[in-house]
Amino acid sequence: MKLFLSTDFEGTSGIVAWEQIMEGQAEYAQGRKLLTDEVNAVITGAQDAGASEFVVNDAHSVMRNLHPQDLAGRATLITGRHKPLYMMQGLDDSFDGACFVSYHGSIGAEHAVLSHTYNPGAIWEVRINGEVVGESGLNALVAAHYGVPIIFVIVKQSLGRFAAAHIHPAIACEMLRVGAARAVQNISAMLPPSFTLPVTIEITFLVADMAEMAYWIRDVERVSARTVQLVGENLLDLYRTFVTVVMLTRGLVDR
Ligand SMILES: [Zn+2]
Repeated sequence: MKLFLSTDFEGTSGIVAWEQIMEGQAEYAQGRKLLTDEVNAVITGAQDAGASEFVVNDAHSVMRNLHPQDLAGRATLITGRHKPLYMMQGLDDSFDGACFVSYHGSIGAEHAVLSHTYNPGAIWEVRINGEVVGESGLNALVAAHYGVPIIFVIVKQSLGRFAAAHIHPAIACEMLRVGAARAVQNISAMLPPSFTLPVTIEITFLVADMAEMAYWIRDVERVSARTVQLVGENLLDLYRTFVTVVMLTRGLVDR
């Protein structure tokens, strides 16, 4: 039993501010400990239920938030930038399940701590087949492509973008451990995400210049001043093009 973990940072219990999750900031060390404990809780729970192989992709910001020696389960750690499959680097069809750890709500979501969709400085909203999605929805394209089911656990109640009621980290980790074990036990009954083909991804930016720039990429159509769309049947290609749009438009973000 082989599990893939894509780890973000904003969804961890105890986190409500950028200062807790950005390298070089005063509260970063504490944030990092909270995140590492949650990642290890998922690995330990999965191990209890029989999973034996783990690949962890550190997918937040500069992607060096986790330290390899601190990971449970002798997990392989994918770390650093830039990775061709970004938040989903490392996943392929040899995995039995994918866990999204410490994920957060989309930029437009109500009550979502530190909400954003890939780049808060560029992306206003993303829709897949008309439905608003966040990072989990976009990353599901890759899981669907490889036919791998996804596991989630919620560990805090958001009160807004910078406030939340946190389940005590010890209890949050216990929930993650139990949740991961339960998911692994039931994994043969869990289905990978599925999308109606062809898939349309619409990306609305903060400003029109970003849509103009995204349109430089082959297969990207501009549908209005601030919105572009990509349409296709190959989910991995669509995700790759989306990542290219994210990387390119980063150049236009206000500093
Ligand atoms: Zn994120």
